Amino acid sequence: MSSLRIRAALPRTAACVVLAILMVIGSAHAETKPTIAKDARLAGDHERTRFIADLSRKVDVHVFALASPYRVIVDAPDVSFQMPDGIGKEKRGLITAYRYGLFAPGKSRIVIDVAGPFLIDKAFVLEPRDDQPARLVVDLVPTDEKTFQAKLKETKPPEEATPAALPMPPAPVRAPNAKPVIVLDPGHGGIDPGTSSADGVTEKTVVLAFAKTLKAKLEATGRYDVYLTREDDTFLPLRERVEFAQKRGANLFLSIHADYFPQAPEKATGATVYTLSEEASDNEAKELATKENFSDALAGVALPSDSDEVVANILIDLAQRETQNRSTVFARSIVGELAGNLHTKKMRSAGFRVLKAPDVPSVLLELGFLSNPDDEKHLVSDDWRDRMSNSLAEAIDGYFAKRIARAPF
Ligand code: ZN
Repeated sequence: MSSLRIRAALPRTAACVVLAILMVIGSAHAETKPTIAKDARLAGDHERTRFIADLSRKVDVHVFALASPYRVIVDAPDVSFQMPDGIGKEKRGLITAYRYGLFAPGKSRIVIDVAGPFLIDKAFVLEPRDDQPARLVVDLVPTDEKTFQAKLKETKPPEEATPAALPMPPAPVRAPNAKPVIVLDPGHGGIDPGTSSADGVTEKTVVLAFAKTLKAKLEATGRYDVYLTREDDTFLPLRERVEFAQKRGANLFLSIHADYFPQAPEKATGATVYTLSEEASDNEAKELATKENFSDALAGVALPSDSDEVVANILIDLAQRETQNRSTVFARSIVGELAGNLHTKKMRSAGFRVLKAPDVPSVLLELGFLSNPDDEKHLVSDDWRDRMSNSLAEAIDGYFAKRIARAPF
């Protein structure tokens, strides 16, 4: 797992949006205690915008730019973020927002959103001095699109030179009497909190708690092998969630999320079950897929280019019809079991990247709305989690009972 996750931080193919490694700075001295980031702020204006973070000591940082959308990524080993609440939403000069968190085990990341093409003019870490903490400083200046792109290309790392098609991971060979494999995928994590309620309850936390409860229930039946794509507050890119399921030969993949719809906090309530489709069932489903698909960009992962998508789509077409049928059967099974806990539009579809394994029946479940006060109470309640996961375990039992009666799952 750790090699999988760490790979996400590395540039993958030339077809990816170009990653530019601009500088590696700081001392090479490794220490065991994590560095603490206590505060951050912005300074300057549109001509020069400065990002400053206060650190408990000097660390090695790796600063680079990403395009589509414009971002600066600051990677550092083992930083514990103890920032004041609500930080990162202010806009100043070229910077529109920033966020921070765990990106992979032992690897912390700050992502700074930038309004337009820019250059990293300076990036350095100052030693602590007198009563001043150590400070990370990143200076951005505006540029034109051509210069921005040229700079990215110029500093392109060598391993990006030859794009390699990502091979489909082979499904493991399985014993004839093996148990069905279920992969539960708590959405978001680490640097990507997902959505959050007005009081700061985050999607990444509630979905992880739910997935753990459901895993325990399914395992207790003795009928399934169950895996979680993430076990803690770590970020995992969407593609690696899909690959995780494929590598384990999953017979079922359930991605677990919570939604937010502030336009109608009273009306938008209950769970919704989503399957994959090229054409979204409706505009809200389409918007939701865009929001969920944005997870990678938010965390500073270089997204595959269009050509990667074309290859992926061909593979998907070959295998997907049967998988899609099974996904729909599973989605209906969930709808049947959740009855009173559902949103009015209980089954919908859209282009969710995390559901794109051509060979694994996959469903995305939005447990409820963090924008609705009643749903929020449910989402943090042990009691509700217990009841809801019982219903889901029933839905999963129902799905496999049908499948096993017919043929191999
Ligand atoms: Zn989500």
